[in-house]
Amino acid sequence: GAKQRGKNTYQMYVRQMSMSLHRRVEMETQLRHAVDNGEFSLVYQPRIDLRSSHCTGVEALLRWNNAELGAISPTDFIPVAEETGAIVPIGAWVLREACRQAAQWRERGLGPIRVAVNLSARQFADPRLHESILDALEDAGLPGEFLELELTESMVMRHPEQAVRWLAAIKRTGVRLSIDDFGTGYSSLAYLNRFPIDTVKIDRSFIRNVPDSHSDTQITSAVIALGHSLGLSVIAEGAETQKQIDFLRQEGCDEVQGYFYSRPIPADDVESFLGRVAESDLAPSARSSTHG
Ligand code: C2E
Ligand code: MG
Ligand code: MG
Ligand code: MG
Repeated sequence: GAKQRGKNTYQMYVRQMSMSLHRRVEMETQLRHAVDNGEFSLVYQPRIDLRSSHCTGVEALLRWNNAELGAISPTDFIPVAEETGAIVPIGAWVLREACRQAAQWRERGLGPIRVAVNLSARQFADPRLHESILDALEDAGLPGEFLELELTESMVMRHPEQAVRWLAAIKRTGVRLSIDDFGTGYSSLAYLNRFPIDTVKIDRSFIRNVPDSHSDTQITSAVIALGHSLGLSVIAEGAETQKQIDFLRQEGCDEVQGYFYSRPIPADDVESFLGRVAESDLAPSARSSTHG
């Protein structure tokens, strides 16, 4: 009867709760040793210049493979690492690894490929971040201009005065700065422009419905136009279709990053991707790759 069904549903609910709680606790524990155990790797998603169709750089995206938990998405483990503070040493590892890889591409003559690294709020608030960035660049022998840091609106808005000062200092090392997931926060681009940023990345949630959704299309066009009027370069995240690419090109969007051109791929595959780009053969052949 209904009562029994209710009881079953309740027990299922409790089981799911404790499963996810157990998984979360396990995640916290495993995250503590994951850097030392070599469980992390980076994949790289190309960014394409819409005018030249050249690859200007890649975004480094973290992957975690744990013996107990399997492969876990960053959208699941980053928030946990953020809460426990594990993100600070993990983020330092990401910076070092991304800089090392970018330096290697540079030494192999793969052209000026810039690597973009995501920063978390906790890392951004850590006073050792500055040194950690300088160390990563120096140890890799990578000039600052080949590194870009992706920040979010809320990170810089939390302590704006501090953020302006720190960002100005890091800019003097040549490092570039971008605002990630733009449009999902609450701030205005005009206000954000008080920070010494170079680039704004329009969030995938807007690009997804372009050009079919009238409002998302209007917002995207407006962000591109305003970004340009403020002297920023504009990247669209998550472009998957030719229609989206055509629209973004027509609106003068500078770059795109999305499955249409390539999923995030291992470092070794970046080289062959760049080879195809050089031959102007940007067929979205990496779309079937399973590393995304
Ligand atoms: P993000 O920085 O906005 O990165 C872009 C995400 O969108 C990536 O997911 C990428 O795989 C996905 N994406 C790109 N193009 C497409 C597309 O055309 N279609 C679809 N459906 N998705 C697309 P991923 O790798 O799962 O990363 C998720 C988020 O995790 C990142 O979002 C970022 O916020 C965070 N993250 C990843 N790596 C790191 C890291 O090293 N440090 C920190 N702090 N956060 C990271
Ligand atoms: Mg990002
Ligand atoms: Mg993003
Ligand atoms: Mg995003």
